[in-house]
Amino acid sequence: MSEKNLLKGGEFLLSAARGASLFTPEDFSSEQRQIAETTESFVNNEIFPDLELIEEQDFTLMVKKLRSCADLGLFLVDIPEDCGGLELDKVTSMLVAEKIGPTGSFAITFSGQTGIGSLPLVYYGTAEQKHKYLDRLTCGEWIGAYCLTEPDCGSDPLSAKTTATLSADGSSYLLNGVKQFITNAAFADLFTVFAKVDGQHFSAFLVERSMVGLSVGNEEKKMGLKGTSTAQVILENVCVPSENLLGEVGKGHKIAFNVLNIGRLKLSATVVGAAKAAFAEAATYADERKQFGQPLASFGAIREKLADMTGNLFAAESLLYRIAGMLDARIATLDRTSADYYEQYQGAIEEYAGECAIAKVFCSNSLAMVADEALQIHGGYGYIKEYPVERYYRDERVNRIFEGTNEINRLLISTLLLRRADKGAIDLFGADGSEEPDESVLFAAEYSLLARQKKLFLMLFKSLSERRSEQEILLALGDMAIAIFALESSLLRGTKSRGSASESKKSLLELVVRVAAFEVTSCFQQSARRAAAYGIDGEEFRTVQGMLAEISAYPVSDLLEAKRQLATAAGEAGGYPF
Ligand SMILES: Cc1cc2nc3c(=O)[nH]c(=O)nc-3n(C[C@H](O)[C@H](O)[C@H](O)COP(=O)(O)OP(=O)(O)OC[C@H]3O[C@@H](n4cnc5c(N)ncnc54)[C@H](O)[C@@H]3O)c2cc1C
Repeated sequence: MSEKNLLKGGEFLLSAARGASLFTPEDFSSEQRQIAETTESFVNNEIFPDLELIEEQDFTLMVKKLRSCADLGLFLVDIPEDCGGLELDKVTSMLVAEKIGPTGSFAITFSGQTGIGSLPLVYYGTAEQKHKYLDRLTCGEWIGAYCLTEPDCGSDPLSAKTTATLSADGSSYLLNGVKQFITNAAFADLFTVFAKVDGQHFSAFLVERSMVGLSVGNEEKKMGLKGTSTAQVILENVCVPSENLLGEVGKGHKIAFNVLNIGRLKLSATVVGAAKAAFAEAATYADERKQFGQPLASFGAIREKLADMTGNLFAAESLLYRIAGMLDARIATLDRTSADYYEQYQGAIEEYAGECAIAKVFCSNSLAMVADEALQIHGGYGYIKEYPVERYYRDERVNRIFEGTNEINRLLISTLLLRRADKGAIDLFGADGSEEPDESVLFAAEYSLLARQKKLFLMLFKSLSERRSEQEILLALGDMAIAIFALESSLLRGTKSRGSASESKKSLLELVVRVAAFEVTSCFQQSARRAAAYGIDGEEFRTVQGMLAEISAYPVSDLLEAKRQLATAAGEAGGYPF
């Protein structure tokens, strides 16, 4: 596919939905499915049986499990072929993350190793640095960690206080500072540390555990992810050879943020996996537990929850794999032999930084909803450790905090869109979103709903662009964009996948698209109301009210029946039915 056929970042808000270039979970190749199955068997045979020990912070066991994972080749998925890796597509990388997701602590340790712990070196390391460290990381001999956060700076990492001072002869840097909440700290061998050269130029360094002056603080006692290591990394006059500077002096922000873009998408995959597992617990329990002489699953209150969980998760899964497919399509247009391939590669990922932030917020909220309802379905037993849903609930919470808090990501979505509109990269200020509805297509009502939402978004975006310094307004606009992307991704997937689906799957797809459309539209309406109330008045406000009324007119007469049928499908499948 040529570059001009690809959507630009944020362009989904402008263009009519284009199904042809869409990737959906129904499009997984047999190779992708096979890798997913291998990962799933590893999780079921190697991790779940030892979960209790892992949760008790048996770090020796954790490292042993990581090495078994490496033996299977799972550390090589994102590693380029010329570095001895498999360099598989992003869809496969997301599938692996999704399958590992239900393990909680192991999943976060794994992504600390294969994501933030290795990718800075993969993308920005010199040949010598890769030769020295990458093999050790990919075979599991060494474990990696990523040290960005500090006690006084989390969301604002560029205000780091850790310093790096070049020696008089230029042969080394002296690092001083404290890094906070570092995943894998207890057993990592290689730390990617961000520090300011001369207290000013934000830069990254590869720091070995054995370097004198590096020490690790006490383990934090956490609410969830009990099995991961989270501790301070303390640097006291650590002498780091100059050749361990990663990238260029003053360019550390590029490393930090680019790694986070892909990190956010991987986190989305991890949480989708956890949500599916929590869902399965809930569906099974609802089927087995009886009250008033009937299974819980027979009560409308419980069935509604199962249906809403299905709709929410369908939207999350659809947008996650849509973005992974968008990244793969863009990466496929790059010239692999070009000397600046990795720069172009970073550019391809950066193009969809907004979409990655959308996925992070939507999918982590989706897990929050699913884990909460799964626990509620368990009643008091959900509060008891013996039931797996208790762990899913505790482990879920931090996903809305790390890889950029959800507030920071919601702000980022609007800020990136404004920046692109200002630069003229996409015409968000000029377009008005007018579209002739096509009544003949499948999901005509939902496509019309989507078009109305885009039109209202564009109007509010333009009107409120002058109020960009006000976070409440940026957050509301960001939430509207998230809802539109979720609706569109569900709708496009439903349309595309229905074509090749069996009769029963066809009807299930129709039901889930309706349920997802209704739920996501409720979020859109609430955010649009907020945006309008905060920043619009007079005639324009009345126009917005009129547009909202049109959106509310979405025909929902068969919604209850759709939810009941989805709940039945979830019960029969023993969990998420897709
Ligand atoms: C279990 C765990 C593992 C972690 N692993 C790592 C790791 O491996 N490496 C690493 O470097 N870090 C790691 N972190 C740190 C994590 O990335 C930070 O906690 C996160 O970025 C938030 O920073 P903070 O905790 O300092 O919160 P703060 O930045 O102080 O934020 C507090 C609140 O204020 C809001 N806020 C802050 N700034 C703004 C703003 N400008 N506008 C609006 N709202 C704002 C936030 O959304 C949040 O609600 C980990 C954290 C945890 C809990």
